[in-house]
Amino acid sequence: MPAFTNPTDIARETLKLLSARRLAPTPENYQTIYHEIAGIKPLASQSKGDQTLLKALQELTRQVPGMGPQFKALAKALGSGEQKAVEAALASLLPKSEAGSEIPWGDLIRELMRQWDLKQSGITVARKKDGLERVLSNFSRDSAVLFTKVQALVSSWAENPVAQTGVPVEGGEVVAEPQGKTLAEPGGSSATLEISTSDIPGALREMLAQTIQTGVAPRLSQFPDLRDEAMLLAQQAREARDQLSIQGVAKNLKQFWIKLELRNDSDAQVLDGLVRLLRLLVDNISELMLGDQWLGGQIAVVQDIIAKPLDSRVLYDAERSFKEVIFKQGNLKNSLMEAKDTIKNMMATFIDRMSEMTASTGEYHSKIEKYTEEIGRTEDINKLNQILGNLMKDTRGMQLDMLRSRDELELAHKRVKEAEEKIRQLEKELDHVSELVHEDHLTGTLNRRGMDNAFERELSRADRLNVPLCVSLLDIDHFKRLNDTYGHDAGDEALIHLVRVVKEALRPTDVIARFGGEEFVIILPDAGMDEAVMVMTRVQRHLTKNFFMHDNQRLLITFSAGVALRGAGEGAESMISRADKALYQAKESGRNRVVPAD
Ligand code: GH3
Ligand code: MG
Ligand code: MG
Repeated sequence: MPAFTNPTDIARETLKLLSARRLAPTPENYQTIYHEIAGIKPLASQSKGDQTLLKALQELTRQVPGMGPQFKALAKALGSGEQKAVEAALASLLPKSEAGSEIPWGDLIRELMRQWDLKQSGITVARKKDGLERVLSNFSRDSAVLFTKVQALVSSWAENPVAQTGVPVEGGEVVAEPQGKTLAEPGGSSATLEISTSDIPGALREMLAQTIQTGVAPRLSQFPDLRDEAMLLAQQAREARDQLSIQGVAKNLKQFWIKLELRNDSDAQVLDGLVRLLRLLVDNISELMLGDQWLGGQIAVVQDIIAKPLDSRVLYDAERSFKEVIFKQGNLKNSLMEAKDTIKNMMATFIDRMSEMTASTGEYHSKIEKYTEEIGRTEDINKLNQILGNLMKDTRGMQLDMLRSRDELELAHKRVKEAEEKIRQLEKELDHVSELVHEDHLTGTLNRRGMDNAFERELSRADRLNVPLCVSLLDIDHFKRLNDTYGHDAGDEALIHLVRVVKEALRPTDVIARFGGEEFVIILPDAGMDEAVMVMTRVQRHLTKNFFMHDNQRLLITFSAGVALRGAGEGAESMISRADKALYQAKESGRNRVVPAD
């Protein structure tokens, strides 16, 4: 029988065969003959499942015209009952690339997250979100198309230059300087929230996402797994639109907080352990060093610090006072060593002379014994005279030895006494070294003690001459950031730079003292509020013109300051406290500014 593929031909041949076989033209007979001609297994011999499948395929052929040949081929393969043919027909139905498995979604999402977090100039997070939402709603039906669209979107973000995250001088903190680096915070916490009042839930979602992204994640640099989880949570929070996904975010957040708490607990335990260890060490050292007043004083400082809750400023202050003492001690130690060397030398000489003396007296005794024997044996007066002459000679030699030794010993004794006196003096100086140091050894400004003296002097002068007196408290802006970005040594260098520049712009009579870590007190004698604010603003401007150079990078350091004018009979402590409040306002209102106190 010729193979017919065209349905019309098959239908005509079916009718011919029906009449040739004298069969009644019932639908069943027609179908059986039709299938016979088309080479399809009669329905009767097909399973119920096959029949359902064939019917579904006929329906699909009608609904999806483009796929007609593939569906027909499958129907035919099913009819033939050959497994290989069915497999081949099924395979032809699959899309060319296997359902997304070759599409590198992972890489794209990672790149998307990276570009999302970067602050490109001209593109806000809200614009990125809009773009992404548009692509998702237009192309989510076809994953390959969606992939290329998302990829194109992310590339378009990446084409924009990354914005300098420093804030302009007018705004107060760190300036993005074209040739120089800024002290921008990693993760860019200066990002502003773009909140639309018409979309409150959206704004809340965005706030939650940004809190996690910029408030939580950057603080987890020690735990990369938690940090990645936080970034993912921020993304989930940002995308959560329906109840189900919001519940999902809530559940994930809760699990995240639990993990965070566990991790923090273990951190706190380590810290507690270290402090306990330090306490133990310090307590025992102070017991061992009963006689050493100087060391005792230093240990007391450490004991005092670790008794209080730990705070980075207190630690820095302690470190600073230790450094001062170590520096001073370094100078004293050399003199002390010299004095001790003198004593050692004298002792060595003394021992040498002693042994010489005992040697010569021992020799003398044996000679005397020999002479006594000779005197006892001889009767000859001439011989006796000779013996006596020898005896006198030996005795005189010994006497000379004795005299020489006595002089040397006296001298040694004198030197030892002098050296002992020097040691006593040096040790006394060491005992009071903390009290003697008035300067901060890093910056060369006065330290707290020096400041107290200066205040005492200036306050009584102001009273005596009835002139005004101002005090300014300044604090470097975002100094921690500088330390974190460029290291502690760079921070130290920056402090030295700041003091040099500040001194250049101050009046010759102004006094600068290091108040704490990166805080300085400036006493401005004979200055009313206006003049003091003017001086401090001049200092500020001078600092913005003089960049701090670090590894050939120009870094801009700024500070905030509060200024207090002395009230009638007001003391230093109260003035500083008012200046501190004004300083706080200067920080609150954007930094890099001078605020007069009430
Ligand atoms: P703000 O603008 O609010 O003042 O920010 P900040 O980072 O300057 O403020 P904070 O007081 O939190 O940080 C001060 C930091 O200064 C703490 C400590 O890390 C650092 N610091 C204090 N003393 C020294 C020091 O002698 N050398 C160095 N390198 N860093 C110090
Ligand atoms: Mg500070
Ligand atoms: Mg500061």
